[in-house]
Amino acid sequence: MKSIKSPLNRLSGLLNIHKRYYLFVCLSTLFIALMFTSTDFLTIPVNSFKDVCILFMQWIVVTLSLFFAMLILSVNRYIFLFLMPLLTLVSAVLAYFRYTINATLTPMLLDAALDNDLGTSAQLVSGGLVLFLLAALLLSAGLIYLRFKLGIVQYKPGLLLTGVAGMFFLTNVSAFQRPISERIPFNIYYTVSKYNEEKQSIKQQRISLTEQSKCTDDKPLTVVFVLGESLRPDHLGLNGYQRNTTPLLSKEDIISFKNIHTEYTYTNRSLPHILTRADSLNPDRAFTEESFVSMFNSCNYYTVWLANQESAKSYAYFMHECDSLFYANIEKSSYVFDKWVDESLFPLFDSALKSAADKKLIILHTIGSHWWYNSHYTDSFARYQPVTKSKIISSCTKEEMINSYDNTVLYTDYFIHSLIGKLRNERAILVYLSDHGEALGEDGIWLHASQSPATQQTAGMVWMSASYKADYPQKYEKAMQKRDKKMRTDFLFHSLLDAGGIDSQYKDYTLSIFR
Ligand SMILES: [Zn+2]
Repeated sequence: MKSIKSPLNRLSGLLNIHKRYYLFVCLSTLFIALMFTSTDFLTIPVNSFKDVCILFMQWIVVTLSLFFAMLILSVNRYIFLFLMPLLTLVSAVLAYFRYTINATLTPMLLDAALDNDLGTSAQLVSGGLVLFLLAALLLSAGLIYLRFKLGIVQYKPGLLLTGVAGMFFLTNVSAFQRPISERIPFNIYYTVSKYNEEKQSIKQQRISLTEQSKCTDDKPLTVVFVLGESLRPDHLGLNGYQRNTTPLLSKEDIISFKNIHTEYTYTNRSLPHILTRADSLNPDRAFTEESFVSMFNSCNYYTVWLANQESAKSYAYFMHECDSLFYANIEKSSYVFDKWVDESLFPLFDSALKSAADKKLIILHTIGSHWWYNSHYTDSFARYQPVTKSKIISSCTKEEMINSYDNTVLYTDYFIHSLIGKLRNERAILVYLSDHGEALGEDGIWLHASQSPATQQTAGMVWMSASYKADYPQKYEKAMQKRDKKMRTDFLFHSLLDAGGIDSQYKDYTLSIFR
């Protein structure tokens, strides 16, 4: 009897004797959840009471994880004394900037902070920030006082086990893990991990393909590669879409490819495939070989990557293959809902164009037509109305979704056209390829990362300046002939080398759109 009674007694001890302890953990949890975590929810667009309830449920999930974390943190009062002010301080800084300038912690921001590269860091310190930090630390000190008043708690192994099991469950269920990982304070841990993973991937040894590269173009040349985001070819006016979503590009001599298929339908997976020699027979090359960037480097190109998207471990290596890497909007992630537009890349593009090198490869990684669509075009491009009003897709109508999406296409038309305007008098070629398409309600599917014709058809186009076209009329003709051809994104690697006048034993001429 004793062996049965004893565990029951222990359970009752955990539940009853520690009422005051659980109350304290609840108080500490609410302090963090209300004061800091909630700032991550304040600017999310909602349109109905149902949307608010959905967001509230997400907040509850994050708060529940926080409860389990605090259960572990509070077991030992000295650990609590050491860690609580630290957690408060970092969370308070993040919450303050999230609330005041809608900035969120990203690996790029962490990198800039660690490199002491935040040129305006002194200007970031304001009276409001200092006051907020002091108030937060004062409340944190109150909690530490309460924790010491509680004294030593019993059943520590049971409490720790409950905390670890709760955390493990919530952070390993995929529906919960992503919302938790992007919210204060959990984003501190996840961003540092992501940052470390990217650093590791950059150090990785990859096979070089540069030996015996032949550089056949000996005049000044600018090759621009625009990596698009979620752009569907059938929503481009210049491809015959019923709406004229490309009023500017339609007036240019654009070669638009209507039948490009992508194997992979999300950025992190499609980019390594697009940038390397990987194809459907040799997909592993995306993880073992260098990209076309190194081959441009070997032909004395100045190579630069201009990013308006978060980096990721699957393609951070290629960004660092470039001679230079510049970010626009280092504080934006997909959990930020204010304006995040591609024209932020223009100043970076202008300086890259001004570089003294005769030969340049400029890669622009755009945010394009990524969901939340309204963030990615400026107000003057809100032509198609009504647009989405809620971040919760089930609360948006199909009409609103397509209108918002088409406004991003209209904005991309303006963006690419502006790049062309800057290149018109150069000897230049611009190649655009979107990383994948986007589902807009076909079979009830939205956005991307699913396998469907809408997500696997992706937009691609080429523009050549007059002097480039004059030197390479056959490239123009051949590309024109391939406009309707069914192709995989495998064409990109070989075509870009062709565009830059680089010959190599690794180039497959049959895949180039210029042959
Ligand atoms: Zn993407």
